[in-house]
Amino acid sequence: MAEAEQTLLIKGGKVYDHTGDTDSPAAADVLIAGDTIAAVEPDLTARIEAGETHPALGGAPPGRVIHADDRLLVPGFVNAHYHSHDVLLKGCFETIHREAWLLNSLPPNYPQRSREELRARTLLGALECLRSGITTVQDMCTVYPFDEGDIDVILDAYDEIGIRCVFAPQIADVQGAALTPFWDEVVPAEFQSWLTGPAGGLGGHGELFDMICDVTRARRGRHRRITWALGPTSPERSSPELLAKLAELAESDDLPVYTHINESRASTLAGRQLFGAYDGSLVRYLDDIGLLGPRLNLAHAVWMKPDEIEAIADASAMVIFNPLGNMKTRSGVAPIRQFLDAGVSPALGCDNCSCSDAQNMFLTMKMFAGLGAAIPSDPGPPFATDALAAATVNGARTARLEGEIGAIAPGMKADLIIIDLTDLSFVPFNSAARQLVFTESGRAVETVIVDGRVTLFEHRAKTIDEAALRQAVEDCMIVLRKDLKAVQARTDTMEEYLLEAWRRAWAEDIGVERFVNSGRG
Ligand SMILES: [Zn+2]
Repeated sequence: MAEAEQTLLIKGGKVYDHTGDTDSPAAADVLIAGDTIAAVEPDLTARIEAGETHPALGGAPPGRVIHADDRLLVPGFVNAHYHSHDVLLKGCFETIHREAWLLNSLPPNYPQRSREELRARTLLGALECLRSGITTVQDMCTVYPFDEGDIDVILDAYDEIGIRCVFAPQIADVQGAALTPFWDEVVPAEFQSWLTGPAGGLGGHGELFDMICDVTRARRGRHRRITWALGPTSPERSSPELLAKLAELAESDDLPVYTHINESRASTLAGRQLFGAYDGSLVRYLDDIGLLGPRLNLAHAVWMKPDEIEAIADASAMVIFNPLGNMKTRSGVAPIRQFLDAGVSPALGCDNCSCSDAQNMFLTMKMFAGLGAAIPSDPGPPFATDALAAATVNGARTARLEGEIGAIAPGMKADLIIIDLTDLSFVPFNSAARQLVFTESGRAVETVIVDGRVTLFEHRAKTIDEAALRQAVEDCMIVLRKDLKAVQARTDTMEEYLLEAWRRAWAEDIGVERFVNSGRG
């Protein structure tokens, strides 16, 4: 397959500009040279046809032309929180509380996967992302048991399909049922060994840190669209020693850090119970350890107190909301409006395939805009334009690719999507921003360009064989369905105990409520 086209001219489309007319964007021609946007100019085609040239063309005609009449060009979306390890488990679970879901979905609960499965699931998840206009995916991927060869299979799959990826191996070095409130008290001893899955570690902190350091440094720059990040799964499942070392590594190597925080009521209660010295605040703990700053990306942040929201804003740390997953795992509604009022510019993630269960940024943007209004307040943000900023420029900040992706402008990487405005989502065409956020579902995503390379053209994948991928997935499911059955049977056996622990966690006062009506009225 060809890498980036030498030059590509997209003619006559309307171009979404965050700072321009977001209802009726002006038409412009977009010239791409290699991996970069060289020009966004209204009359470029006419000037070229009249004999003028552009420096990026070097006197030659454009290598390829895409006609974009009745089309809208939008910056590619950044899926700022995602895990490729359970791509094949979409649709396997009903809405269950997060702690039980973890037992069903996390890799340490399963036997090691085949490399055919790793490749197939990575390609499938990336393809689903591309189809909903996602051009960058941040993958906090658990590889268990840890295997460098497995990581290379995943990276090669990302390289092959052509999506941009920020890859963060997900790690933890603190284990045990005590990390989930009341599990060690209510789950009978004979089942306790089944609970190590979500708390599963990969070794002591020194050994684990050295491994992560070596793996990331050896592979950085190996694939042109893959950058690296650090992924301690959560503050409570990482030792202070590991977090302090990761903070130093993030600083020395300029890497973003991703972690889960205050996602569910139970995980927030764990913070309250385990970090009394910090008044139960994981935010204060992260600050003390040197991680709270612009490189830190906090996924979820549902159960945050007002002073924690202020601390996050003051530190210019980033927050990534994942409303689809929070609904599926009964984790509550993040205080979106409060974060916006505090000056935080959030990004958006589609989270796991087994808890959202869709890599669809349109659904996520709509949920973000709607749930932002779930807490009584005067009319106001988030507006549709806020949702689009969250899915693009704010996502770029979480990847530390600010100024490179997230907008269609000269000098930016050529990551953009072409939307078909003849699709009924846009008929009549009243507002680009509002119809992208409130109406479109992904159906009108016609063409997707990443790094100057056409990965999807007129709805067809151009970098992989889609039929062969479907077959590879079906082949893998023969084994995976058997493994899933065994995993789910184990969780079902413990169901009454897990529910008892969840109810006890629910009864504790943690100083904040994040359910509509708090479930108590
Ligand atoms: Zn996650």
